[in-house]
Amino acid sequence: ETPKISNFLRQIIESDLEKGTYAQRKWAGSPGDAAHHAAGQPDPAKIRTRFPPEPNGYLHVGHAKSICINFGLARDYGGVCHLRFDDTNPEKEDTEYVNSIIDAVKWLGFDWNGAPDAAAYQASDYFDFMYRAAEYLIEAGYAYVDEQTVEQMRVNRGDFGKPGVDSPFRSRTPAENLARFREMRDGKHEDGSMVLRAKIDMASPNINMRDPAIYRIRRATHHNTGDTWCIYPMYTYAHPIEDALEQITHSLCTLEFEDQRPFYDWLLERLAEGDLLAAPAPRQYEFARLNLTYVITSKRKLAQLVYDHKVQGWDDPRMPTIVGLRRRGYTPAAIQMFAERIGVTKSDSWIDYSTLEGCLREDLEAKAHRGMAVINPVKLVLTNWDEVMGAGHLEPCTQPALPHPPEGVESPTRHFTIGKEVWIEREDFEEVQPKGYKRLFPGNKVRLKGGYVIECTGCTKDANGTITEVLATVVPDTKSGTPGSDLVKVKAAITWVGVANGVNAEVRMYDRLFLDAQPDAGGKDFIESLNPNSLKVVTAIVEPSLANALPDQKFQFERHGYFVADRVDHVQGSKPVFNLAVGLKDSWGK
Ligand code: ATP
Ligand code: MG
Ligand code: MG
Repeated sequence: ETPKISNFLRQIIESDLEKGTYAQRKWAGSPGDAAHHAAGQPDPAKIRTRFPPEPNGYLHVGHAKSICINFGLARDYGGVCHLRFDDTNPEKEDTEYVNSIIDAVKWLGFDWNGAPDAAAYQASDYFDFMYRAAEYLIEAGYAYVDEQTVEQMRVNRGDFGKPGVDSPFRSRTPAENLARFREMRDGKHEDGSMVLRAKIDMASPNINMRDPAIYRIRRATHHNTGDTWCIYPMYTYAHPIEDALEQITHSLCTLEFEDQRPFYDWLLERLAEGDLLAAPAPRQYEFARLNLTYVITSKRKLAQLVYDHKVQGWDDPRMPTIVGLRRRGYTPAAIQMFAERIGVTKSDSWIDYSTLEGCLREDLEAKAHRGMAVINPVKLVLTNWDEVMGAGHLEPCTQPALPHPPEGVESPTRHFTIGKEVWIEREDFEEVQPKGYKRLFPGNKVRLKGGYVIECTGCTKDANGTITEVLATVVPDTKSGTPGSDLVKVKAAITWVGVANGVNAEVRMYDRLFLDAQPDAGGKDFIESLNPNSLKVVTAIVEPSLANALPDQKFQFERHGYFVADRVDHVQGSKPVFNLAVGLKDSWGK
């Protein structure tokens, strides 16, 4: 369990709980609440947070931070967190994304109070309320229908330091506005011909307060409401209402929404005046978004990589999507540890990718079974094997799968065999000893890990001078784990796999997807920074326990790093496929 570090959000929540900010709150009951809380109504005095993705793509590691913050705070302070689909933008949304988001949140280790998946909240369920609230604003003189062109509106909105200009439609009476707005709803006007705007202050220093648009006409079929509506609320209008209807206490979002907070508060105050919403209103707090080096965190840009076939899909193990990280071998525990470790701050910064990798290593170190795999194989022949051990003899060997099992846990045992021929890494043999080299060269002894001590005698080569076989002799009575096996001293132990029981495996060696640490900073074209060598597929030879992996099982391939049996392509026993999850040591700084 990663220790919980205090941060400004925790301080705000703790202070609210201490002051009893929500103690007097009556449970007004947010729409559909009963269905969302199988375990009964949550205590209204407790906190409520929400994670509100737009279902227009797959979630990425930045969203994972937000999920861990929102669901994590609710868990830690005995409150609840709503998964809410912010589905107010009909053209871009799709149920494929809805389902992938539900999967991602659950996989990360969070749920919605034991209720079924369908219990996620949907902004589109509040379209009726949002419409009524808009009519209220019109009647109270807080909103008007504007028929300026988009271009006129943009120009008249003004710029920083320069006040805006009132629309000629700004002084319409509530009755006129109401009639027009109803015509908008009834499909009497073209898409884009008019909008409903909040009537606030065209001279406000905050551009977001210069009569923001709150409803637009858009003839589009919505994934939830179908063709019921041809007008849709704008995000800035919809979001505070969603929060208020669900009686969210702390609405946590990224810093780019800071300038929207005055409108958030303005809107909720107006609607409270009209008795449309219960008090106390939710409060918005902003935290820094996650920027991770060598990574892009924008659904739109990630979609471009997928649609332009720069990667093999949303779940390509090089993608920073949650499905991509999962397929790469990341664990929920590693991602939660990462979110805790990077903390929550109020200023933007870049987090080094190695921080994320470090969390995975830390999580897998104790849990992942060990196994041997030879990634760049050359055959080693033990020339005296038949004579010393018996012709064709295969000697069974065992090793613990977990060298440091957690307390009270007994390590499972790996079984493999050694015979006359074994595979070793090409780099473990040198014809002439380089300075300090302790592995195989003629005359040197090493241990085959978990097997025997061997003494190198030379090699054979083909016509091009490529080494085809390394030659050695086995030293009798040195089998690992047998009495006296350590009497012959060696300076190195090398990994290997028996030719007789090794299994060919496809191994996908991944490198960073981008060469530039900030691939899309300052408007750069991130496509140009793609690493042409981000994937190398090799055929490795793995020991039987690895070939028998279950899909998604993680391993440490001794000396090489952590690998995962691919959850899509790996077939237990018959077609092993592994993805490199993370190397053993930090290589990002190299
Ligand atoms: P994108 O630009 O990738 O589409 P978004 O913010 O538009 O991201 P949403 O679906 O609206 O995507 O995001 C849901 C929540 O996730 C929001 O509350 C948002 O603030 C948060 N979020 C998105 N990206 C990050 C990030 N990089 N770091 C932290 N939180 C993020
Ligand atoms: Mg968004
Ligand atoms: Mg976005």
